[in-house]
Amino acid sequence: MIEELPLLDPKSVSSCSKDLAKGPWEWSGNKAGYGPGASSTDPLPPFYPSQESIPSKYREAEPALLEAWITEARTKLDEKVVILGHYYQREEVIRHSDYLGDSYLLSVAATRHPRADYIVFCGVHFMAETADILSQPHQQVILPNIEAGCSMADMADPESIDRCWKHLMSVFGPQEGDDNVTPIIPVTYMNSSAELKAFCGQRGGIVCTSSNADKVLTWAFERGKRVLFFPDQHLGRNTGLKMGFDLDELPLWNRRKASGGLSDAQLLNSKIILWDGFCSVHKRFRVDQIELARKNNPQVRVIVHPECPMEVVQAADESGSTEFILNTIRNAPVPTAFAVGTEISMVRHLALKFPQHEITCLDPVVCPCSTMYRIHPSYLAWVLEELAEGRTVNQITVPSDIIQDASIALNRMLEATQN
Ligand code: SF4
Repeated sequence: MIEELPLLDPKSVSSCSKDLAKGPWEWSGNKAGYGPGASSTDPLPPFYPSQESIPSKYREAEPALLEAWITEARTKLDEKVVILGHYYQREEVIRHSDYLGDSYLLSVAATRHPRADYIVFCGVHFMAETADILSQPHQQVILPNIEAGCSMADMADPESIDRCWKHLMSVFGPQEGDDNVTPIIPVTYMNSSAELKAFCGQRGGIVCTSSNADKVLTWAFERGKRVLFFPDQHLGRNTGLKMGFDLDELPLWNRRKASGGLSDAQLLNSKIILWDGFCSVHKRFRVDQIELARKNNPQVRVIVHPECPMEVVQAADESGSTEFILNTIRNAPVPTAFAVGTEISMVRHLALKFPQHEITCLDPVVCPCSTMYRIHPSYLAWVLEELAEGRTVNQITVPSDIIQDASIALNRMLEATQN
């Protein structure tokens, strides 16, 4: 619950919704979209899954009791279970995790436990799917709350991407000119459905993370003239600019408009065609917040995630993935003031982990990721106790044909970025 977040800056903390103090089961059945938090006004897609109601004993238990139940069930399951916790999870969940990391690192961590029958992923849906793709056939991947999706991933559905792709093929043709170079390569951010990873696998495309987007795009430009990048426009734009492309070579495909709202001339001039998805957490960061942080402390180091808008990334001192932010702060040799532009639970975790530094969130309003918030110790206790009784709930299963094609795109990423 939001009260459990420490007051990073007691003078300025307020939250974006008083409903954050309630349990996430209040929004079960998708009665209010993604629920309280940064994605509260994003429209839910029609295919959004619905979480069954968990027994009242879990919803009503005090934190100490939930903690005891989780610990007891884990002890009973022993090596049969591995628990993965994303950095954007609340501390009460993170403390039970065997591994803490970003989405891809966690999926790789799970592969180190081939004997574990159950992988409990405290993160969001696309992460659990990736863990299922990379796991052994006998392993079951569990998402404690099935309604923990990702509003950004949901902004790119396979039908819309397919429509876009067909239009691009009609403009570029299968080959362009006499050089036999592929006219366009699809690149999907890790934050996308398994189906879209498979789409890329089938079409000579690849997956990227926020840590390796530039290396992956370099790989793509060795093979094609341009890229369709989805779902996050900001990561695509920030990376394209960093690679030296002009803004007019990075047009935005508007999925609600015919032909994406782009002329054939704009498409032919493009280098990276950006899907119009975004992360509602990172979209909250603004240049005026950076200006205020610098006014309050001219020595402050501003560090933001590349899912933030271009103006914010350009105004910051540094930008990079979750791992980059963590390592930058870890490696700061002297006590430093950091103003960080990323999800509040991560900022809170950094502040707890590195007390020698002064670490605040750029956004003075506490507004966590609506879907990460859906994972609560009550759901974790429920799935673990069910598993300890031999019952699997909330399993995430990716069909085998999708696994095969998505693995191709994921393996291309591994090969492209191994050096
Ligand atoms: S922080 Fe943004 S990208 Fe990450 S899960 Fe939440 S909505 Fe999706």
